[in-house]
Amino acid sequence: MSRSAARHSLAVAVPLLLLAAASPLLAQADAQEVKIETVGVADGVYMLVGQGGNIGVSAGEDGVFLIDDQFAPLTEKIQAAVAEVSDQPIRFLVNTHWHYDHTGGNENLGQAGAVIVAHDNVRKRMEAGGLIEFFKNQIPPAPKAALPVITFADSVSFHLNGDELHVFHVPPAHTDGDSIIHFKGANVVHMGDL
Ligand SMILES: [Zn+2]
Repeated sequence: MSRSAARHSLAVAVPLLLLAAASPLLAQADAQEVKIETVGVADGVYMLVGQGGNIGVSAGEDGVFLIDDQFAPLTEKIQAAVAEVSDQPIRFLVNTHWHYDHTGGNENLGQAGAVIVAHDNVRKRMEAGGLIEFFKNQIPPAPKAALPVITFADSVSFHLNGDELHVFHVPPAHTDGDSIIHFKGANVVHMGDL
């Protein structure tokens, strides 16, 4: 194989790997293989690593605040991982953006009682469905239970668990509805896919 041919096949392989890792059709069999790893970040702050976007957690006396929720078939494992660090319910769920590897568990968690919060455009895009350019994937409209019920244009703050969690929108970047979550007291940021 010539050197240029080798370069070409590598260039093709990388996007395919990205697609495979973020398929919206995470099969139940694949989900069974996924293990949710809990990483301590600060006092009462955790990162859950499974498949899809990493999840942020604030856990404490006021309940559990979750950032993103990966894929629907992983919800029970995510709930079990949360239960290891808190005996409180998941009260709030914030989506950093509308992509399915960050919102796939919305319907399950919304039905379980979490209040879903996101930028205005997250709800708009989930409601309408549409093309995710990065994955070249056409996404159908989300069911009502998966949609954020509280939306904001610029920012919103949560006063929970002894911290101020400042959720703020940034100008169009990865999508037109990206938010960063700054745990002001813990000095932690969750940046979604930014
Ligand atoms: Zn994304």
